[in-house]
Amino acid sequence: MENEQLLLEKLESSSWSPGEAQDKVLAEILEKNAATDYFNRHGLRAATKEVFRQRAPVIEYEDIKDEINRIADGEAATLLCANPIADMFTSSGTSGGAHKLFPKVEGHYAVSKYFFDLATALLNRDLPGLRTGKALYFLYVRSGRKTPGGLPAYPALTGYYNSLEFRNRPFDPSNDYTSPLEVILCTDSVQASYCHLLCGLIHARDVTKLGCFFASVFVRSIRCLEAWWQELSRDIRTGTLSERVVDPACREAVEKILRPDPELANVIDEACSSGSLKGIVRKLWPSAKAIDTVVTGAMEQYVGEVDYLTDGLPIASMIYASSESFFGVNLKPLCEPSQISYMFLPETSYYEFLPVARSEEKASREEPVELVDVEQGHEYELVITTNAGLYRYRMGDVLRVEGFHNKAPLFSFVCRTNVLLSIDSDKTDEKELQTAVMNAFAALRNGVTSKEGEAIRLTDYTSYADLSSNPPHYVIYWELSSELHLEPEKAGECCYKMEESLSVVYHRGRMERSIGALELRLVTPGTFNRIADDAASRGGSVSQFKLPRCIKKNATRMLEIVESGVYQQYFSPRAPKY
Ligand code: AMP
Repeated sequence: MENEQLLLEKLESSSWSPGEAQDKVLAEILEKNAATDYFNRHGLRAATKEVFRQRAPVIEYEDIKDEINRIADGEAATLLCANPIADMFTSSGTSGGAHKLFPKVEGHYAVSKYFFDLATALLNRDLPGLRTGKALYFLYVRSGRKTPGGLPAYPALTGYYNSLEFRNRPFDPSNDYTSPLEVILCTDSVQASYCHLLCGLIHARDVTKLGCFFASVFVRSIRCLEAWWQELSRDIRTGTLSERVVDPACREAVEKILRPDPELANVIDEACSSGSLKGIVRKLWPSAKAIDTVVTGAMEQYVGEVDYLTDGLPIASMIYASSESFFGVNLKPLCEPSQISYMFLPETSYYEFLPVARSEEKASREEPVELVDVEQGHEYELVITTNAGLYRYRMGDVLRVEGFHNKAPLFSFVCRTNVLLSIDSDKTDEKELQTAVMNAFAALRNGVTSKEGEAIRLTDYTSYADLSSNPPHYVIYWELSSELHLEPEKAGECCYKMEESLSVVYHRGRMERSIGALELRLVTPGTFNRIADDAASRGGSVSQFKLPRCIKKNATRMLEIVESGVYQQYFSPRAPKY
């Protein structure tokens, strides 16, 4: 409580002088990394802020990919940063289909903890009653891998949950998790999900909040009740753990807290047997007051589903962060999802903002502005400089300045540049989708002809993220030059080919079943023209009409037209290798 007060006071004082804090962070980064190869190459030794901003190029991942790969190969030299690098983070961003890698430096987890503590303090400030009771958080880790040079590489949150900062944290009554650490650290996501739900149910009467980092994970975890409620109820009725949990550490930890509780089992049976999950969270966890999960950006599409499952419990979307750095916190945890904005913490990294230009020509001339110079109502791409070897690095996230808290700007998340389809952590861009479709069509085309004996052509295609299935999946609509009924086996392979061509993060999602099998829907020739006609009938330009490569959920009219043309649908028969 006292600590929370201190954190909030510190936040308030940061908001009065973001410029000073930014100058200090940058000066420290410049001093510390002065002797790196990167600084040498760009003439940044002993650079002031002005020199740095003049000489250091604004870069993307591809610009430092060689250095990153050399670090991953075990080259010990200080290529990018002075901090020794013993581990690397794999992000959900991809480069050439593979995970992007980022150096992990000392101090990262202390910053992570600081942000999580601050988020808790803000939530407790605005929602009384969360300091007591239990927290059902769906926290997961993934198994790591080694880089060619032998450095462990894993996602940032996996690193955090395994870190001493997390494992040895003092008892915090506001974050008294229902799941034991062994469940959080179980790398088998199915067993971990089962145990999270079971432990959450064991403590059902005491749970005051539920959460996890991203809303997609929350929805997926709660939806598992559909398949498991009878098994979970049986475990609770009898006090014996299902055989599905084979991880020894998990079993032991869960068995320690599992007791026969027939009364609770009856509540579960009654709540779940209707076959609908509407409002299931309130039914099973009657004291729950809020859901702590990110619902901005790609996660916005899950707001409706979270509302459905929780019968409208408040959603607190608290943190904006990435593998590269932590950025901001939401000062109004209980605001409507459409009003969410994040205040950047100015002492974490040095931020610049590249104005989002209306035209390509202008984009090449614009220079990034500093945190204190952003203007309300304007949109910017975030550019960061960190103590982990990223200097003026474009994050690919577009933000809008919604206002200010004291002198600190508040940013809403607008979009990720270039992301078309996203279900979980996957971020498929237009080029990746195009490659996937072209590869699949090239494989299909051979020897396939129309009734008239003509070679078949792919007239056009579009896509849709279908969140109504469990798990959600990609739907790709193809319009062929003539209506062709494909052999199911061949069509299935075509779906598989598309999946195979997508990124490693998509493949991981398929393996872990957070993403369902890709579906190909064939539409009758002329269907996409009807979309153009419809746009024209409502005043759109016929000559400039372009079929969107992805149909958004709220484009109901367009979806209706495409769906009305569907004459066949096929699914990928298996998940691609991860
Ligand atoms: P990763 O590095 O895999 O953790 O992914 C980080 C990316 O997730 C960010 O660059 C954003 O695009 C997205 N992200 C993280 N937090 C938020 C948030 N609060 N709102 C919207 N998008 C977010």
